[in-house]
Amino acid sequence: PSLPYPIRLQGPVMRGFGRGGKDLGCPTANLPDDAVDGMLLDGVKNSKNSTDRVPEGKDGVGTGVYYGYARVYPPESAGSEAEASRFKEEDKVVLPMVMSLGWNPFYKNERLTAEIHILHSFASDFYGYQMKALVLGYIRPELDYTTREGLIQDINTDKRVALNCLDRPGYSVFAGDEFFDSIP
Ligand code: ADP
Ligand code: MG
Repeated sequence: PSLPYPIRLQGPVMRGFGRGGKDLGCPTANLPDDAVDGMLLDGVKNSKNSTDRVPEGKDGVGTGVYYGYARVYPPESAGSEAEASRFKEEDKVVLPMVMSLGWNPFYKNERLTAEIHILHSFASDFYGYQMKALVLGYIRPELDYTTREGLIQDINTDKRVALNCLDRPGYSVFAGDEFFDSIP
């Protein structure tokens, strides 16, 4: 089979449980469940059976941490001007991201969840805004951590790996991919 990348995902940013992300210095914007189907092979889509997860490195993609680009689109007719002005021009461009794809324990591990941390400091939250993500490669499988420090260290490594990969010409071209041009 051909390489799965780039994988295009999009949808409105959903509210999660607000757990951990921000205290770890790593808020993650959640995509809706159906957006995550883009990460699965056709035969696996809609399956409730977690044994159907796609093995990494075989015919598709697996759970773990990925890198790529993302862009957030504030609503064109933003509700209040106050809200619109909090989201700055520099927040509206294509930015590097790391994405965690995992089976969600809240749904008895029957549903995949994609959470995207964008490597950028935003002027405000962007719940409900549309987000597009172009997934370009795989960094590592999911791991269990015994310490908070261990987790934070690995997140920092993931961010460095992502930036180093995206710096290479073969990947940086995707920042200009036409996928990001049309406003969802
Ligand atoms: P939740 O459980 O609701 O996802 P988080 O603590 O993970 O809570 O925070 C995620 C939210 O933070 C996103 O939905 C977004 O609105 C906001 N946010 C601010 N900065 C970022 C960023 N750099 N990357 C991703 N989300 C961010
Ligand atoms: Mg989150």
